[in-house]
Amino acid sequence: MAELQFFTGTMDSGKSTLALQTNHNHAARGRVGRMFTTHDRAGDALISSRLGLTHDAIEVDEDFDFWTYVVRELTHGARIDYLICDEAQFYTGVQIEQLAKIVDELQIDAFAFGILSDFRTELFEGSRRLVELADRMNVLQVEALCWCGKRATHNARTVNGEMVTEGEVIVVGDVENEELPAEVAYEVLCRAHHRRKMTAARARAISMIAEPLPFA
Ligand SMILES: [Zn+2]
Repeated sequence: MAELQFFTGTMDSGKSTLALQTNHNHAARGRVGRMFTTHDRAGDALISSRLGLTHDAIEVDEDFDFWTYVVRELTHGARIDYLICDEAQFYTGVQIEQLAKIVDELQIDAFAFGILSDFRTELFEGSRRLVELADRMNVLQVEALCWCGKRATHNARTVNGEMVTEGEVIVVGDVENEELPAEVAYEVLCRAHHRRKMTAARARAISMIAEPLPFA
């Protein structure tokens, strides 16, 4: 029986690495798959892991229709046994529903990989629909750590070094300001430090102020 599986974890938990590994494992058994991504950190249509591995993928924009794509491929004689869907948090709810339909009606496995919640601590649209529809959910075992050493469960966004909890869910490319483009970065934190907006840089700055001066 084909399954829709959702592999989730925080930003640094190795989701893209697992996506590439999953593809390798299935391909090694002679199965044929298709790989998808969107807004990948390396640029267009490439699944890239932080360990340096990459693989070509099909770019999923908001109008992409998985059902139409797969049916067209099959009609043209292609074989598809499974789909690898990276950055699935950015897919629309409708696209996740298309994946579920492909699993049920065409008996093709769909493996989706994505972050559960955004920098505001709210579920991404694609992830929410995956939680609702997936046959199985897997929380990744490689756990990212907060700067304090606790398990990092939350994603933080910083803009010019300051942590923010409001703004567009997806920031594509550079944010153009009149003068300087804002520098947007991400960091994983434990819940307590996310609540207190205590990023590693801020904690470092505070501990430097708090430490006694080296002369007295
Ligand atoms: Zn912490």
